[in-house]
Amino acid sequence: MSNEQLDALRDELDKVNLQILDLINERASLAKKIGQVKDTGGKNRFDPVRERNMLDLIAENNKGPFETSTVQHLFKQIFKASLEIQEDDNRKALLVSRKKKQEDTIVDLKGETIGDGNQRLILGPCSVESYEQVYEVAKAMKAQGLKLLRGGAFKPRTSPYDFQGLGKEGLEILKRVADELDMVVISEIVSPKDVEMATEYIDVIQIGARNMQNFELLKEVGKVDKPVLLKRGLSATIDEFINAAEYISSEGNSNIMLCERGIRTYEKATRNTLDISAVPILKQETHLPVLVDVTHSTGRRDLLLPTAKAALAIGADAVMAEVHPDPAVALSDSAQQMNIPQFQDFLTSLRDSGLYKY
Ligand code: PEP
Ligand code: MN
Repeated sequence: MSNEQLDALRDELDKVNLQILDLINERASLAKKIGQVKDTGGKNRFDPVRERNMLDLIAENNKGPFETSTVQHLFKQIFKASLEIQEDDNRKALLVSRKKKQEDTIVDLKGETIGDGNQRLILGPCSVESYEQVYEVAKAMKAQGLKLLRGGAFKPRTSPYDFQGLGKEGLEILKRVADELDMVVISEIVSPKDVEMATEYIDVIQIGARNMQNFELLKEVGKVDKPVLLKRGLSATIDEFINAAEYISSEGNSNIMLCERGIRTYEKATRNTLDISAVPILKQETHLPVLVDVTHSTGRRDLLLPTAKAALAIGADAVMAEVHPDPAVALSDSAQQMNIPQFQDFLTSLRDSGLYKY
């Protein structure tokens, strides 16, 4: 074959490629239209019977030289891409998505901004146990210029026989300490009926990992004018996590912070497995601030500092860790909370590393 003939065949191939390109895009447009009709009719986008019929039709009409199995494989890829294009459209519409809003959401907690590139620390005891206990931690934080205090008043515990928290009394303690020391308080709420009441005591409502898909609770916090710290569920995918945030946003409250707190894997060396790559993924996919809880993700005091460094290095907007005046006698999470000197060393090391700047 001469070079001219080869060039002619290549030109022909380019033309066919362009025809295929036009045709698959035409197909995508049709699939999108069908998807929209199905959405309004409340029907599932994926229809296996229809897909089987299309594959059969292709098999009946295949004249080769491609094998039927090859052609079917190629078409299945096209079907899959068409389904994805419909789902992409759906994602585009999510209020929390970067596609919907380009700029970062900045949550302002009494002047402490989260999400504007100033990386913060959120600290405090696992459970609120007494006024003196919270005050001691808050005082040590304040001495270091830290304002973001967290403590649990309603504790969702694995066992019903474990300490369940002081409830409303715990919120009262947090508020008293916050007023006295000018702190910002974050505390978990576990029931929709307590949301309204809690807004009188705390500055940020935390939704714990076990409640990430408590949709009634998510809707309720979506209705109040308080920032929400939403933790990733124990076995939740990133997509499920984003959709949980969407539940809050869709009710009108877009002051949401996402918190990666480790996920359940087969690994036993740590309490959970810190999914560090979730941080940049969530920051790409959403416009919300992303936090890392190093206490619950590792469950190990010796890993708090290295994981906090990793979180700051990868771009987390804040790092959360637990501090208790005497962890050995703490009513929850005694193995992983730092005592006050350990917290001071933790902070000094973070500052010395250059990763934490405040
Ligand atoms: C907590 O932050 O106090 C807590 C219980 O963590 P998680 O919901 O992530 O388990
Ligand atoms: Mn804890």
